[in-house]
Amino acid sequence: MPLTPSQLDRHARHIVLPEIGGVGVARLTAAHVVLVGMGGIGCPALQYLAGAGVGRLTLIDDDTVDLSNLQRQTLFTPADIGQPKARRAADWVQGFDPAIMVTPVIERITPANAAALLTGADVILDGTDNFATRLLVSDTATALHIPLVSAALGRFQGQIGTFAGWLPDQPCYRCFVGDAFDAEDCDTCAEQGVLGAMVGMVGSFAAMEAVRAITGFGDDPGGKLHLIDGLKPLWRTLKIAKDPGCRTCGNPTSPA
Ligand SMILES: [Zn+2]
Repeated sequence: MPLTPSQLDRHARHIVLPEIGGVGVARLTAAHVVLVGMGGIGCPALQYLAGAGVGRLTLIDDDTVDLSNLQRQTLFTPADIGQPKARRAADWVQGFDPAIMVTPVIERITPANAAALLTGADVILDGTDNFATRLLVSDTATALHIPLVSAALGRFQGQIGTFAGWLPDQPCYRCFVGDAFDAEDCDTCAEQGVLGAMVGMVGSFAAMEAVRAITGFGDDPGGKLHLIDGLKPLWRTLKIAKDPGCRTCGNPTSPA
């Protein structure tokens, strides 16, 4: 579908980038991104994905806005306290660009509903705050063959990676963290604290990786994990190998 005159104006700064161009913007307007978690990572990620004109956005979060969220969850104001985050974030999208089809899902993602909620996405962006959910989202994304941008942080440390574990040479998120954390379900932000501006950096980086996955600009992100240390500050990129024994994407029954 050709871009409208309004879309050409709105996305002019992406269109002039040769690595994105009109073709990339058209891919973005045709894309469906599911964001899991509308907290500190989800808020800036959503703003940049909406800014990029991603045509369809599904926002999954069962939580409501709390006063202590405003330090880092940049979409929300005191008037939103007590309201569902997914609903208020979807309202923001509709005000920002009515051309975007946005669906709030005020539910917790569980093993029972994960496949139904994630099916049909072109990219999944996970900004949730506990291992059990992150592993569930990763296992489902791998089973559905959907690229996963997984972003997390605590205190001053952030990490972002794009995973395509169904491919024979690519790791999944479980290859990286293993099986020990499936039962972990804690709000690490409340326990450890987190620097608000760090969350913003990780969230906008995750949006960039989702745009990369849709448009194909730049280098292949597969198998790389980016670590940001806000204390130094310092940025490192690690290579993650596929774990042949991974129960999600490996082949644990075959002899090593
Ligand atoms: Zn794996």
